[in-house]
Amino acid sequence: MKTKLKAVTRKNSNPRALVAIPVQRAVPAKDRRLNFGDKWDYAPAPESVPVKIQPRYELFINGKFTAPTSGKYFESINPATEQKLSDIAAANAADVDVAVKSARRAYEKVWGKMSGRERGKYLYRIARIIQEKSRELAVLETMDGGKTIKESRDIDLPLVAAHFFYNAGWADKLKYAFPGRTPHPLGVAGQIIPWNFPLLMAAWKIAPALACGNTVVLKPAETTSITAMHLAQIFQEAGLPEGVVNIVTGAGETGTAIVNHPDINKIAFTGSTEVGKNIAKAIAGTGKKLTLELGGKAANIIFGDAPIDQAVEGIVSGIYFNQGHVCCAGSRLLVQEGVYSKVIKKLRDRIATLRVGNPLDKNTDIGAINSRMQLEKIRELVQSGVDEGAELVQPRCALPEKGYWYPPSFLTGVTASHRIAQEEIFGPVLSVMTFRTPEEAFERANNTPYGLSAGVWTDKGSKIFKMINKLRAGVVWANTFNKFDPTSPFGGYKESGFGREGGVQGLAAYCRLD
Ligand code: NAP
Ligand code: MG
Repeated sequence: MKTKLKAVTRKNSNPRALVAIPVQRAVPAKDRRLNFGDKWDYAPAPESVPVKIQPRYELFINGKFTAPTSGKYFESINPATEQKLSDIAAANAADVDVAVKSARRAYEKVWGKMSGRERGKYLYRIARIIQEKSRELAVLETMDGGKTIKESRDIDLPLVAAHFFYNAGWADKLKYAFPGRTPHPLGVAGQIIPWNFPLLMAAWKIAPALACGNTVVLKPAETTSITAMHLAQIFQEAGLPEGVVNIVTGAGETGTAIVNHPDINKIAFTGSTEVGKNIAKAIAGTGKKLTLELGGKAANIIFGDAPIDQAVEGIVSGIYFNQGHVCCAGSRLLVQEGVYSKVIKKLRDRIATLRVGNPLDKNTDIGAINSRMQLEKIRELVQSGVDEGAELVQPRCALPEKGYWYPPSFLTGVTASHRIAQEEIFGPVLSVMTFRTPEEAFERANNTPYGLSAGVWTDKGSKIFKMINKLRAGVVWANTFNKFDPTSPFGGYKESGFGREGGVQGLAAYCRLD
């Protein structure tokens, strides 16, 4: 039951053409099964673990849940239904100040003095509670952020626990991590994270900071604060001493208050390049340590000798399975000319089978776009590609009436100067280009302001090594894509930021080494 693809080509002459693409049409509530014909569709398989969402989440400061001084709250919604889930406290500079003071107290009186062995015990305990609650946390992550339950249950949550376990193991062995050097904690770390991996980004930041003896003030993203507050409950349950981790929710201003607070020793930021640059300017000359994990525009490079079926599957999982909401998503595809038609045909067929819809359904491949704002950004950038002369390919795929959705898409005829070849799209949209020689492949791959990740698909080991040495990207995957492990450092070149998270390098970012 193959769905007929509708290739859509729109040229500059008709700026409204994209709006007319039939995929945007709504389907009746009773029939939201997508792509497949009625008879052969899977039965719905929604994740049934019950979760308790509080009507209101307060700030987590000094081990307690406290109301914001402004008395203000903002809504967190489910992007798949547009229904409100909860009210979230909006922290202002005064709340951030209380949080920093509590982190400083905890650092000086308890955590900074505690032996690594004892700190490790807390981290192990936190990791185990996360494992126990992982189904529930996965459902919350999916409801608040729109990502599929397959992703939150099978990728995010196991990695969240793994990062706490990994860093727990280092807590009493730091001197072995840095032979011949003596590591010291930095003090209070201010950490600001985005919405695409809410719990995982919190784990990437909190676990190494605590393992090294620092205390933390963390701000989750505005659209995905709920799981961070459940993580705070886990810290309470684990008996983590008061003030060791403080979580302040709010918008950009809350982040600015953290960045500008004079009593913070280290800022760790994951988010957009634009905000990252402003943070770097704001803390220049203050003596604060900084790591930035910013945007990306990864190239997935397919050579003619690659196993094409596996490569197509890797491309699909690298850009579509997570709505393209990954900084290291393979959002550019570079195909060697000889296999171009074959790859495009297979990709076309494969994306027609992807299922877009209820993220809580275990059969769903592509969930909801995180916010209306993000959806508009994706539409605008795709429109710019069409206006600049690229061809948009989307399967005929009906989308639910409510919520924020974008069908899996790719653009062909993209040139290096198009905005869709240069700017991060953060949506399920792939820009396809071709190359003839390996030299042309790495030149094209490197030709963006970013340098976070890349993928190489080939049967030849020698070609892999050649490409790895030439690609200016923090991570290069070979014959696979988007694979993560807490032992492996992650981070970017150029405008993708600096510093590494994960592995021993990730610990170094939270230590002063004598
Ligand atoms: P963003 O707008 O930069 O936001 C990131 C975080 O910073 C959010 O918590 C945000 O709060 C906060 N923030 C916003 N303005 C701020 C300011 N002026 N000062 C301090 N904090 C501020 O990015 P996003 O749209 O949430 O996330 C998507 C971006 O993150 C993409 O560019 C993606 O590539 C990048 N990313 C990178 C990595 C990596 O490891 N390299 C990983 C994941 C994501 P609000 O949510 O309230 O705006
Ligand atoms: Mg939400």
